[in-house]
Amino acid sequence: MKYFFANWKMYLKESEALALAKVVKTTPCAKCFTVAVFPSAIHLRGVKKILGSRPCGVQDVGHVEYGAATGETSAFEAKKMGAKYTLVGHSERRRAGENDLFIAKKFAVALKAGLIPVLCVGETEEERKSGHALDVVLEQLESSMREAGELLKTKDFIVAYEPVWAIGTSISAKPSEVSEMHLVIHKELSMIVGEKGVKTPILYGGSVTANNVAEYLALPAVSGVLVGGASTKAKEFKALIKALC
Ligand code: PEP
Repeated sequence: MKYFFANWKMYLKESEALALAKVVKTTPCAKCFTVAVFPSAIHLRGVKKILGSRPCGVQDVGHVEYGAATGETSAFEAKKMGAKYTLVGHSERRRAGENDLFIAKKFAVALKAGLIPVLCVGETEEERKSGHALDVVLEQLESSMREAGELLKTKDFIVAYEPVWAIGTSISAKPSEVSEMHLVIHKELSMIVGEKGVKTPILYGGSVTANNVAEYLALPAVSGVLVGGASTKAKEFKALIKALC
């Protein structure tokens, strides 16, 4: 199974999100792909109603199950509302100040709630230029899983490698850079969770478009893509899905 995940970020008004959900619902896709959209949490109920059995996710969850966490979204409530996945540790959240411990709590709460977290990791341009990309990503990976304990063995999760310098910039990573990073992530995952780590899906994200999506999906180490900007317009969305088939 390969994955096509669409992160709509905060690009869309409610009417636009609902209209795009109708496009998602009616765009046929190869059976070997799981296509899931990640609308704003406040649009989740409406989008899910349109999507029916098609999966969707939220872009973030709270660091506690319930309680004093103003502005956060309960993973348990998102699950009840029909979400199957959640992003955790997206670079736009990290840039807003979320540290590894906070992300680790969110990752653990998501697993507890029965959501499948998509843990986003990735280095900045500076970190890559100074030769620290691998170290940075492995540290993010390891520290983001610290709070999950035994849940790591029993629950599913996904990793998304999203170099910060490639997100929303039109500068996508070279396939060789993606392959190298995905192999290193798999190796680290197998050290953390054993055999299961080898099978954990790893997605690539960062300026993926209909023109380059096939190139990434052809890489053996890539289980799918996480697409932001290009997934938020009906025409582009359809072109992306067509490129998968
Ligand atoms: C993202 O935000 O997860 C992403 C990959 O964005 P974009 O496709 O716009 O680079």
